[in-house]
Amino acid sequence: DGVSLHSLPRPCRMLLLVNPQSGKGQALTLFKNHIQRLLSEAGVSLTLITTERQDHAREHVKEADLSQWDAIVIMSGDGLLYEVVNGLLERSDCEEAIQTPLGILPSGSGNALAASVHYYSGAPPVTNEELLLSCGFLLCQGQVSRMDLVSVHLSSGPRLFSFLSLAWGFVADVDVESEKYRHLGAARFTVGTLVRLASLRVYKGRLAYLPASGEPSDLQLPPLDQPVSGDWVVVPEEDFVLVLAMYQSHLAEDLLAAPGARPDDGVIHLFYVKAGISRAALLRLFLAMEKGTHLDTNCQHLVHAKVRALRLEPRSPEGIITVDGEVVEHGPLQAEVQRGRARIISG
Ligand code: ADP
Ligand code: MG
Repeated sequence: DGVSLHSLPRPCRMLLLVNPQSGKGQALTLFKNHIQRLLSEAGVSLTLITTERQDHAREHVKEADLSQWDAIVIMSGDGLLYEVVNGLLERSDCEEAIQTPLGILPSGSGNALAASVHYYSGAPPVTNEELLLSCGFLLCQGQVSRMDLVSVHLSSGPRLFSFLSLAWGFVADVDVESEKYRHLGAARFTVGTLVRLASLRVYKGRLAYLPASGEPSDLQLPPLDQPVSGDWVVVPEEDFVLVLAMYQSHLAEDLLAAPGARPDDGVIHLFYVKAGISRAALLRLFLAMEKGTHLDTNCQHLVHAKVRALRLEPRSPEGIITVDGEVVEHGPLQAEVQRGRARIISG
């Protein structure tokens, strides 16, 4: 329920990027059966591009003449939208390009943004084809709202932009290990969680954050090799089971990780689970997350903070960090919210 900025014009021209390999590999069939007629009857004309490989969508939106379209819609999982957001921000006209309204049609195995957009509309939870249809209707309505982005600075390489989540430890490991269960669709995360629970481990590192109090202002983060300033909180523990930063409500179709998240509130919901939690308690947390009630379980190992920026310095040489579900370089990083930098078609 972000405040709507405007509605898309009618007739409306959309660029639709479909990843045929997303999810169970059914995206083109799902498009033909559920979406094509819906959009054409709503006065939407589509330019459909089927992505042929990784980075195809990213390269396409980096070079494209964006004035041809009123919106760019992704039919895939969250990974393809991550490419599009980063491709738009790699352009020389990035400030304008990132204001292109973005839409999402879920056909992946990780459809967290689609589930979030549906949740913000206030409708009761749905999954699979029903979620796809709901997102199709929201596209037809064409209400455009602002959406926060988070810029992620790694110690090397260019800055990355994220619209969904940043994970280290348990959640990142499940994300990556569950790739091999992608034929299960969204259930891959449930199976992955159970498998990971069996080999639960501790991740060593340092975590600090800037609390979200008062109105968001433009941040100036110190370089990664300099200490954080006095208004930051340095987490005393250095042994974690997971660190998860969320800026949308859903971590997956059926995981309501941040029930209070709104698309454009300038808040990062930071969760961490301290080492020492039992397997049973961690499982209870994930089961409660299906309904978004994990914060009500009074788990002493779970901490939730609303923040504007965070810094993570893993101590162990190896490990996995994911940004929007995609693996990035493992090492020190900091992240800061950029309030309402992008545009999303939502309810
Ligand atoms: P899923 O949720 O099913 O993983 P994603 O949208 O996350 O769906 O897509 C996974 C990855 O597939 C993305 O990183 C994207 O770059 C890549 N990709 C896009 N098109 C293709 C293709 N034709 N073949 C293989 N991979 C592709
Ligand atoms: Mg993915």
